[in-house]
Amino acid sequence: MTDEHDEHDDLSNFCCEELEDAVSSDPSASLVEHDSGLILINLGEREEDGETGVVLATIRFCPFCGTEIQTDEDVAAALGDVEIVE
Ligand SMILES: [Zn+2]
Repeated sequence: MTDEHDEHDDLSNFCCEELEDAVSSDPSASLVEHDSGLILINLGEREEDGETGVVLATIRFCPFCGTEIQTDEDVAAALGDVEIVE
């Protein structure tokens, strides 16, 4: 039996409204929420071998208020699902 309320889930990854507003599931947004729940920063498009891709990097701290939003462990655990271009 579960008795979970979802009302807090939407904000669980977000320390502040600025981050919540900035993060989008749209891969072309500047801050992207990946399916894994990881928040990635979009460093722009890069062309390689004739294909244009978006370069995403992981962040640990909120760029707005400096709160640690995901630890190295979180990043490492979720990275298996993310294709990061180094
Ligand atoms: Zn914040």
